[in-house]
Amino acid sequence: MVVQTERDDATWRECETCGLLFDEEADASEHEGRCDDSEPS
Ligand SMILES: [Zn+2]
Repeated sequence: MVVQTERDDATWRECETCGLLFDEEADASEHEGRCDDSEPS
């Protein structure tokens, strides 16, 4: 799942599964779809 987080006066999207940060919602959504199929780290 992707959650929004505020950092440096900007809003980021963080993947709860692996902790990656994205500055674009589209990138986060695309990653989320793939990350769900990946093995947990
Ligand atoms: Zn992820």
